[in-house]
Amino acid sequence: MRPLSDLPLDLARSVRVVLSDIDDTITSEGMLTASAYAALEALHRAGFIVIPVTGRPAGWCDHIARMWPVDAVVGENGAFYFRYDRPARKMHQHFWASAEERQENRARLDAIEKEVLATVPGAALASDQAYRVADLAIDFCEDVPPLPEQEVDRIVAIFERAGAQAKVSSIHVNGWFGAYDKLSMAKILLADVFGLDWDAARRSVVYAGDSPNDEPMFAAFPLSVGVANISAFSHRLRHKPAYITAAHSGDGFAELAALLLRAKDGTGA
Ligand SMILES: [Mg+2]
Repeated sequence: MRPLSDLPLDLARSVRVVLSDIDDTITSEGMLTASAYAALEALHRAGFIVIPVTGRPAGWCDHIARMWPVDAVVGENGAFYFRYDRPARKMHQHFWASAEERQENRARLDAIEKEVLATVPGAALASDQAYRVADLAIDFCEDVPPLPEQEVDRIVAIFERAGAQAKVSSIHVNGWFGAYDKLSMAKILLADVFGLDWDAARRSVVYAGDSPNDEPMFAAFPLSVGVANISAFSHRLRHKPAYITAAHSGDGFAELAALLLRAKDGTGA
């Protein structure tokens, strides 16, 4: 991971699309700061396509797609994208699995939930679970005292033994049934809505994240950026981002946004 300040402005100038994780990448210590939100808004106003790509639930993503200065949102680690067509006042929702499949998967996730809560002391159901349509989120760090790493690994193992996928974010273990992740749904969204095939996407996207559930994105996009707090997770990452910001969390995202805006308006050249 090289310092973001080493990113050549010519390369920064090729960016048209900003994909970003939310928790601990745009938010700081669990809060959305004015400076991080202003960075999102400035990017959006400057004409960048801005898309949060998050493990957060459908209920939150409805709000984000509708009210934040963004072009779309990928949620529940790739279970869906939502895009609000403002002029038409229509929310477009694209899900990986059908409503029937999601219902079947829910019964299997309920069984995993029971097993995790019965066998991993200190783990809890994430407080945003009620607003999820496709996954199960186990809290190990958000509203509960942080669990040791081997307990997080035990949660992941329970999901995987049941044939589910599991990804570790900075706060939750998210698990689901289905061969999707943040990357596969981002690809569908970029192609279907923004007309970017995979070659074009790789040339024009920057991805920002902070933890292991961002790994598929770090691996896929040559221009990937970790905010400084990713260094706490770097021993868990097989694919690290190409660049790392000096600042943590939302301040790191604002640092990236400032660089992109400087490159775009030419003042940094
Ligand atoms: Mg995160």
